[in-house]
Amino acid sequence: MEKPYIHQLLASLEATAAWQQQFGPYPAHPSTGLSEARIAEIIEELVARLGGNYPFFHPAYAGQMLKPPHPIAWLAYTLAMTHNPNNHALDGGPPTSAMEKEVIAQLGQMFHFPEPCLGHLTTSGTTANLEALWVARELAPEKAIAYSASAHYTHSRMCGVLRNEGIAIATDSQDRMDLSALEAVLDRVGTVVVTLGTTGTGSIDPLKDILALCKPQGIRVHVDTAYGGFFFLLKDQLPHAEDWAALPEADSLVVDPHKHGLQPYGCGCVLFRDPGIGRLYKHDSPYTYFSSDELHLGEISLECSRAGAAAAALWATLRAFPPTAEGLGRILHASRSAALALFEGLQASANYIPLLTPALDIVTYYPITATPAEIGPRTEAIYRAGMQAAPARQLHLSEFKAGPHLFPSPLEHPTPVLRSTLLKPSHALYVPTILARLEALAMQTR
Ligand SMILES: *Cc1c(COP(=O)(O)O)cnc(C)c1O
Repeated sequence: MEKPYIHQLLASLEATAAWQQQFGPYPAHPSTGLSEARIAEIIEELVARLGGNYPFFHPAYAGQMLKPPHPIAWLAYTLAMTHNPNNHALDGGPPTSAMEKEVIAQLGQMFHFPEPCLGHLTTSGTTANLEALWVARELAPEKAIAYSASAHYTHSRMCGVLRNEGIAIATDSQDRMDLSALEAVLDRVGTVVVTLGTTGTGSIDPLKDILALCKPQGIRVHVDTAYGGFFFLLKDQLPHAEDWAALPEADSLVVDPHKHGLQPYGCGCVLFRDPGIGRLYKHDSPYTYFSSDELHLGEISLECSRAGAAAAALWATLRAFPPTAEGLGRILHASRSAALALFEGLQASANYIPLLTPALDIVTYYPITATPAEIGPRTEAIYRAGMQAAPARQLHLSEFKAGPHLFPSPLEHPTPVLRSTLLKPSHALYVPTILARLEALAMQTR
């Protein structure tokens, strides 16, 4: 952690202690006391155990969607957590509840949703999507929910939780939802889940055409943009710009600030275009707080306790990097450039072929082999060898089981390929090293 953040954390903890003192002295109970030696012992053990992680912070980690939060988020979260506010109700944390409303308004504006839109932070993209699907079921209980076969598995699972029929729609050779396959089942469907940025390949479903199909028939459209959402800031520069441009017309959307919004885990978000949806959440809890007339966040959320610190962290982060093309957009732009550079490098390589043209910052690729049957085992060998090198020479990738229809000449079976999510801006400066290590791994595993 860089020094200015540590200094600022210490200073802000001192200021917080001064604030605490005005409430008067009170005796500390010995039951919670710990000696300095014991604290050191436990934390040393923790540091050692955490050393078992892969180096998520380093650009040589180019595998799954993992990176540490921005230090400003870390600082804000840590500080707010010393109060431990609960955004379940306004009185659980008035300042962080206000911050949550502010960041929701900012995100609503970012997506050009009409004001005021209804929404709140969640613990995860999974919960946020569950809420959107629950609303879908409440509004059309007899109808099915459709999503592409490449949508996040949470959608089929949550259809099971909600006891709602779920229909997986085939994808095309670019891993996008196949429109004619959707059209064929549309009379049974009440809501279509459109993914802008699938978790596997980052593919973009044809939102514009799906809206044109669904809206005249009164079918809801929910956009799962948990991973991709913040790329909306670059929408004019991205492939499928017309689909990004249609995003403000969705009935609901999910975005994960803990993916591309620089946050620690525990920060998803759901937004509804129609604030009238709030009526579905109505509950009559005898436990919560009745000291305010304002609708509080616990009244529009399926989750009860939620970390106010998560709202504080996102609020502070959006102060530092506003959700604009010049603010947070610059960070996403670096990821996107990294993906394009890696893609071009792989196209020029004699050892690899990119699977798909990246629509965001996720690159899928596979080693050139004598027969298609060798692609899977070589992929696995490269993936393992990259992790097993000496620490300063490691390369961390992930594997993705690609459908046979995604290969340039279709294969017979789903086949594992390599996958790199380049979600750290530092990747933009590190692609030459990644490519060099990939070439060395290709030689080594031959
Ligand atoms: C990550 C992701 C989810 C699940 O969100 P969590 O925050 O991991 O619970 C859902 N949909 C998409 C498209 C995702 O990328």
